[in-house]
Amino acid sequence: MKVLVTGGAGYVGSHCVRRLVQGGHEVTVYDNLCAGHRAAVPDGVAFVQADLADTATLSSTLKQGFDAVMHFAAFLDVGESVRAPLKYYQNNVSNTIGLLDIMRDCDVKRFVFSSTCATYGEPKEFPITESMPQAPINPYGHTKLVMEWALSDCAKAWGLGACALRYFNAAGAAADGSIGEDHDPEIHLIPVVLQVALEQRPQVSIFGKDYPTPDGTCVRDYIHVEDLAEAHLLALQNIHPGVFDAYNVGTGIGTSVRQLIEAAREVTEREIPAADAPRRPGDPPTLLADPTKIKSQLGWRPKYTDISEILKTAWQWHRQHPNGYPE
Ligand code: UDP
Repeated sequence: MKVLVTGGAGYVGSHCVRRLVQGGHEVTVYDNLCAGHRAAVPDGVAFVQADLADTATLSSTLKQGFDAVMHFAAFLDVGESVRAPLKYYQNNVSNTIGLLDIMRDCDVKRFVFSSTCATYGEPKEFPITESMPQAPINPYGHTKLVMEWALSDCAKAWGLGACALRYFNAAGAAADGSIGEDHDPEIHLIPVVLQVALEQRPQVSIFGKDYPTPDGTCVRDYIHVEDLAEAHLLALQNIHPGVFDAYNVGTGIGTSVRQLIEAAREVTEREIPAADAPRRPGDPPTLLADPTKIKSQLGWRPKYTDISEILKTAWQWHRQHPNGYPE
């Protein structure tokens, strides 16, 4: 298929681009490089540097003729979304609606959407299945849920085929060390921990130690970015016109913040100082996927189910690229 990948220079997007290319698809990346990296896009992949809000460029690009769009271009910092909600609604909702509008005009009817477990808010039961209530507790989660609703409505109204993948915690890097995670500022736990291991930060703060979890720190379901990429490929291949569907993408295995830091100490053989700190606003205590649906309906199987194996790939990337991508 000919696939337009928005945000294809970003962390998850770039790993999906590689997987699509390996799968024989023809990829064009559309990215404004506000968070992505040109070097993360493989040679030979067409690249358009433009903003999603630039509807003229988006429209002329889509008019070249595409079979599908994979949409990664979005803001993802939960804390920032609380402070600046309109920034999130503007990009994650308005710009995405603009994209869908142009897709409809250009008759592009396959859409794979980066959604999130944040749409579940603070679930009462674990693991989380797709049929559980979606009640986000922060603006980031709201913007993603609004778009799921819009996709479902467009599927009914004009035959869009759409699949929302509700990511749990994307983690790790390409096994061959070629691409990885590089955010500025870095806020996610694994890269922060590895930056401490590299002595780029003095210590890692543990945000909250009195959550209702076994060791009092937040539990997350870390999913390797290459397993996420595989889920996107399968989703693309299984989209049907007029149907909206959503899948959790996680392993079903929980790791607490303390367990993760301990695993990172073993993998890196570094000390990694850690200190207790106040809770971070907007953090649910536990997020744990039930991946039964994607396994049974799409045949997806994660290659990585051990947090140490995930950390090893991330450590390889961070050690070899201590300053991230060359700019
Ligand atoms: N976290 C932490 N210290 C940090 C960064 C994150 O204790 O410096 C915790 C955070 O509160 C959450 C977990 O690690 O419970 C995962 O956070 P991350 O930002 O990586 O992903 P999120 O779950 O927010 O998508």
